[in-house]
Parts: sequence; structure tokens; C-alpha cells
Amino acid sequence: MTSRFLGEHSGPWLSGSDRSSAVLVQPIGAFEHHGPHLPLQTDAIVVDELARALVESCSALELMVLPTLSYGLSSEHVWAPGTVSLGPTTLIAVLDDLASSAARAGIRRLVLLNGHGGNTHLLRVACREIRVRHGLLTFLLHPALPPDNGGEVGDPRERGFGIHGGLAETSVMLHLRPDLVDMGKAEASVPDWLDGFEHVGFGRAAEFGWSSQDLCASGVVGDPTCASADLGREHVAHALTSLGSALAEIAVFDFPGRKALDGGVAEQAASSSGAAGWRTS
Ligand SMILES: [Zn+2]
Repeated sequence: MTSRFLGEHSGPWLSGSDRSSAVLVQPIGAFEHHGPHLPLQTDAIVVDELARALVESCSALELMVLPTLSYGLSSEHVWAPGTVSLGPTTLIAVLDDLASSAARAGIRRLVLLNGHGGNTHLLRVACREIRVRHGLLTFLLHPALPPDNGGEVGDPRERGFGIHGGLAETSVMLHLRPDLVDMGKAEASVPDWLDGFEHVGFGRAAEFGWSSQDLCASGVVGDPTCASADLGREHVAHALTSLGSALAEIAVFDFPGRKALDGGVAEQAASSSGAAGWRTS
């Protein structure tokens, strides 16, 4: 099979044929504190492994996968040594440059495959800005949306607070990279005190800004103590199924009647950057 990893091809391979029906996937992780039991690069490792698995499970789709972006917006963990965070304007600028390059290559569909909850709100903004500035069809995909970003509450043992280094994430790492997990250092760290509020909290009327240190001193928010590789395998299988179904729709999705506008935006973008070769249909 022709490689789905764009970096393994030559430039002429890309420009030599029409790629307007391709789905370009940019996996995005983070480099941040995950407590004493998980590595700093957890989010990047997980999203990179999922992207590779999707290439196998979605072989009928014309996916093109970019190298995983191993840094993200991790300001909620910068208090902890080891965290490396891009600023929000930096990350937006990186994604804008990436989208500009993709548009010049004739790509129309860009998927941001996000492995870090702290990136989510910014990536929603990036999808809209790239859509408007470069005319690309943009999509934001998550293997699993955490409760603080509108996802399901998850395991009742974590009472809706399993958002960072907890049961699900630790289990997935035990499945994918058990050599990097130290379960002897895993400790439950669930902010029960938030239960005392009716309106303020994750998924409630009044959201709040937070640093992980505000929620739990260890920086872990959840309960990893019952994590297992079997549970991680289930999570990965579920994620691959839902991501694959979403990608199949993304491959054919379009806004009816909007192609002419896309072409105008794209031509402006190409001429202002001095680029050539943009295709819109
Ligand atoms: Zn994480």
C-alpha cells in the first residue's frame, strides 16, 4: 500500500496528482506533567499510536498523516517541572502556517486529531480561523473528550473528575507503552470538594479557569490506581471505531453551494503568499 505518512513521500509525488479528496491528519499532543506514574510525553505517545492504528484500520480512506506535533497548550501544568508549553498565540500561529502549506499543496480537508484536553478550546478557534483564512474544510477529532470539555463522566469511581493521569489515560498507556508506566507511584487524586457546588464546575453553568495544582496538589486529576491494560485496550478499540466512522464522513463532507467562495478565499491566500497550484475541487 502507498504510505499514508506524508513525510515518507517526495515533493513531486504530492504535486504530481490531484489530492483534493485526501484527508490530511495532524495529530497534536502535549509535553506535560502527568503525576509520578506517567511520562511527560503521554498525550503525544497516545495520539501518535492512534494515528498509526487509524492508517491500518481506515485503509479504504485517502488519509495523509503528518508528524505528530508533540507540544501543545499546557499552561495548566507549567507549575510542574518538565512541562513544556507553547503559548496560545504560538500554537495558533503554527497551525495557521501548517494550514497555509497544506492549502498550497492542494489539500482541502484538514483534521486536527487532538490528544490533549488543554488544547481543545484553542483548536476549536483554530478550525474556524483556518476555515475563514485559507478556505480549508477543518475538523477537530478527539479519541475521547474529557468531562471538562463536555465529554462523558466516565467511571463512577472518579465522579466526573477523571481528566488527567486518571483511570482511562493510565489504562491506555498500560496497553500501549507499559514500559513507561510506574503503577507503584499511582495515587488517587480526585477533587471531591467540587461536589459541593451546584452551578460552578465542569459541564455546569459557570465554568472556571484552572491550573491542575488548583484541583489536586499532585497534578493528577482522577484515580489511576485501578488502571489496567485490558481497560486500555477497550478504550483504544472504542476510540478507533468512533474515529474511523468520523473520518469516513469527513472524507465526503462539504458545505453545499460554498465551493465558489472557497475558491475565492483560496486564490486570495495563494496570491498573497506568492504560492501557486491551489486546487479547490
Ligand atoms: Zn494527558
